[in-house]
Formats: sequence, C-alpha cells, structure tokens
Amino acid sequence: MKKFFLSILFLFLLYGTIQAKSSFQNNDSIVTATIALINQDSVHNYIQALQDMQTRFMIAPNRKSVAEWIKNKFISLGIDSVRIDSCTCYSNIHYGNLQFDTTTWQYNVIATIVGSVEPENTSIICAHYDDAVIYGAPLVFAPGADDNASGVATLFETARVLSLTNYSPNRTIELIAFAAEELINFGTSGSRCYVNQAYANNKQIEMVINNDAIGYNTGNWTVNILGLTGFESLANLMSEMRSQFTSLNEYKHIYSTLQGTDCQPFFEKGYSTVFICENSDNTTIHTNGDVIGLVDMNYCAEVSRMSCAVVMHSDLLLNINSSQEKESSLKVFPNPASDILYFKTDIKFQPQYYIINDLQGKTILKGNLPNKTNVIDINNLAKGFYTMQLTDGNQIQTAKFIKN
Ligand SMILES: [Zn+2]
Repeated sequence: MKKFFLSILFLFLLYGTIQAKSSFQNNDSIVTATIALINQDSVHNYIQALQDMQTRFMIAPNRKSVAEWIKNKFISLGIDSVRIDSCTCYSNIHYGNLQFDTTTWQYNVIATIVGSVEPENTSIICAHYDDAVIYGAPLVFAPGADDNASGVATLFETARVLSLTNYSPNRTIELIAFAAEELINFGTSGSRCYVNQAYANNKQIEMVINNDAIGYNTGNWTVNILGLTGFESLANLMSEMRSQFTSLNEYKHIYSTLQGTDCQPFFEKGYSTVFICENSDNTTIHTNGDVIGLVDMNYCAEVSRMSCAVVMHSDLLLNINSSQEKESSLKVFPNPASDILYFKTDIKFQPQYYIINDLQGKTILKGNLPNKTNVIDINNLAKGFYTMQLTDGNQIQTAKFIKN
C-alpha cells in the first residue's frame, strides 16, 4: 500500500514538473511570437516623425503639441487608455547655448494596459522624448534621433505588438514617454514628478526599464545593461532575457547611482530600475548631427525586443508563481552605501523609527522617520557591517547593510 502511495505521489510530482515545464515553454513561445512582430520599418517611421518635429527641447513652445502627438500615436497603435500628466518643472542651466532660469509646464505621456490578476502592480517601460543640443539653437532644431526618439520607438513598438496580439497582461503595464530629462541635473524632470506622485500614492511598481539612446551600433551588436545596487535581480533578468530572446551581446555593470538619468528618481524611492543604452559611442548626441541617418533600425528593433520580452516574461510567470510566497519586503540600497541609505518597505508597513546596530548588537544610530521619508543619513557611521531595524510601533523589519 505504502509503495502504491509512493508511486502515486511520484507520478503526481512528475505531473507537476511537466505542467510547470510546459507552462514555461508556452510562455516562451508567446514571448517569441510577440517580439518577432517588432520591426525595423515601424521603428524607422516613429524616429523620422519625431525628428521631423524639428525640436523636442523641453523649453521650446511646441512641447505640448509634441506630447499630444505621442498620445495620439499610442491611441492609433491600439492603446485605449492614454493620458497626459502635466507638472511644473524648474530649470536653471548656464552651459553652452543652454542659458535658462525658468519654470515650465511639462507633459509626461502615459499609455496603460490594465492587468487582470494584479492590476495594482505595474511594470513600466519608459523613455524620455525631449532632446537638447548644447551648442546649436535648441529652441529651433534638436533632432534627437538616437537620443531619444530611439527609446520612444520601443514604447510605440511594444504598444503596437501587445495590441496586435490582444495581449492581456496579469500586471498593469505602463509605457511612459517622459518629458524634461535632458536638464535633469539642473532642475526637475518629468520622471521625478511622476515618481513623487507614485510614491505619495503608495504605488506598487514591479520594474522600470528605461531605454535611453538605443539606436547607434558600430557593428558590435552590444547593448549596455546598467543596473543599480539592491536591484541587481532586474539587471540579471534583462541579461537572461537578452541571451534567450535576442541576438545581442551585452556589457553589464551595476552602479550605486545613475545620476542624470530617469532611473535615478525611481531608484531613490526604492523602485527596481535598469538603464538600457547602446554600447557604441555616438558623438553626435546633443548636437544637430543626431539625425536618423546614423540610427541602425535593426539594432534598435532588437534592443526594443529585449524590453518587451522582459516585461512579458515576468508577467507570464505570475501564472506559475502565484502560489509562491513573496520575498521579505524591506530593501536597503545602495548596498554598500557611503553617505545616504535609502530603504523601501511593503506599502502596508509605514515605519516611524529606525535603529542601526553594529554586529555586536550595540545601537549606533537611531531616530524618527517623519513624513514617510525613506532616507537615512549614515555619513557619520564608521565603515563596517550593520543591521537596520525599522518599526511602526507594532512590527519590526530588519535588513543588513555595509557602510563604505
Ligand atoms: Zn537621453
């Protein structure tokens, strides 16, 4: 009897394994079939149209109409829910011909496909749509074909192929064209406005894939996958999907900060993000010479396939993993950290106090966490290993980090 029971158990386990395996294979074929629809002619058309606007500089008067055009393009590609989110951005820059001290309205364009299983959890592919030329006349001409009409092309192609295949995601997918990235180091960016609002609303974001200048290829067919400490798993997933679904080579590196990119505001609020860009050095970026003739459409399409594959693959895995428990929610980053330590918790846990102990359990630093801050100044800590505890008065969550 026991033997019989064990055989049944074995068959049951085997069946489970086969089921899981065939689900994986099914998922892979769905991803493969969908991303195969991404094509270079469409990519070419989007980039040409964006360049033909003459300028997409954030301070140029046509910026609202550029955003309206992007919105209508998403709609024409089959996305029903598209909105323009406006915000005010202060910019103060004195560099080359960029001499501005001004506040402007800026317009992010957000195309949404609502998820059917976890609608409250969002995967994002984003790209900035503005451009700047430093020594030209950016108010008149800033073509930005590679930087970053190429990234916007990824958003449009993803929208097009997901609509074409009637893909109904488990999680919500947002395709976001961000405004005002080029002067990000000299004021507010569209991405920072978006993140501030998302964070205030406790928005749950699964991943943020930022495509920025993905069209220049001198023949090495290599893509840069630039991850952030604490969020290596997303960079690793990109790398895995690149190898499985594309013919690209990669250069991968993990940074402790990505200042000057649309990844940074997400990173600072604890959202998992990765920066995707070309590996070849395009010296025409931020000049009048960044024009469509230098963009390799096949390469741009292939890099676009990678982002689409990652979002779809992780979305489809939800069917397989839904019964598995999620990992612990407290994350600290960067890790190691030198002066500022950020943390992220589950949205239901709102810590009020923090305590930092050394390895012997001695409390070295403690304090309040007012107004939902997620930043702790660790400048005065000695180098070494520490444990951080966060508490809301009821529960305690713990994470380890290294001070550099
Ligand atoms: Zn850029």
